[in-house]
Amino acid sequence: MLNLLLPKRCAFCRRPHPDGLCETCRDELPWRIKPYDGIVAAPLLYRGAVRSALHRYKFRGVWGGAEIFGELMAAAVRSAGAEADIITWVPCSFARRWTRGYDQARKLAQSVGKRLCLPLERTLRKIRHTRSQTKMPDSEARRANVRGAFGVRADAVIAGRRILLIDDIHTTGATLDECKRLLLGAGAASVVCCAVAARR
Ligand SMILES: [Zn+2]
Repeated sequence: MLNLLLPKRCAFCRRPHPDGLCETCRDELPWRIKPYDGIVAAPLLYRGAVRSALHRYKFRGVWGGAEIFGELMAAAVRSAGAEADIITWVPCSFARRWTRGYDQARKLAQSVGKRLCLPLERTLRKIRHTRSQTKMPDSEARRANVRGAFGVRADAVIAGRRILLIDDIHTTGATLDECKRLLLGAGAASVVCCAVAARR
């Protein structure tokens, strides 16, 4: 309903634009040279306008961006030539979902899945609260922060399936690595990680 009433804006500069990405931003955003580097499929670098856009999306409830982010992510996955049977996401804790009103990575996974015609499946659960990865001083602290923080859902069908795993940002990759490790441990045939933006 809100989408019908509010003018659509560029997710990056907030100027009204029907596609969610204006021509100026398309020219000037920090695109990654290789959207897939063998570790993560991510179209953008996490800096400048991308960082602000993700911050608005993640913390301030401006989730209209899920559409354009999903479109750019789907293109990065296609360029990676990655095959998948299902799409899933890095879940946030119940408390965070409750205060925010939405699970930001699930919304992205929905948007990417729609474009790649992949069924969205809940495979992971957050076991304990983690502090924001962006506030951790180094990669060891990031790894420690997520160790044991996630688990595989008992009702998830994972064995033999090729999985596309979605998160919003790939920082050092500690969170995505941990979730990938769990899915492979549960028998996934392959796991390809995908985010809106990566640190490099
Ligand atoms: Zn723009």
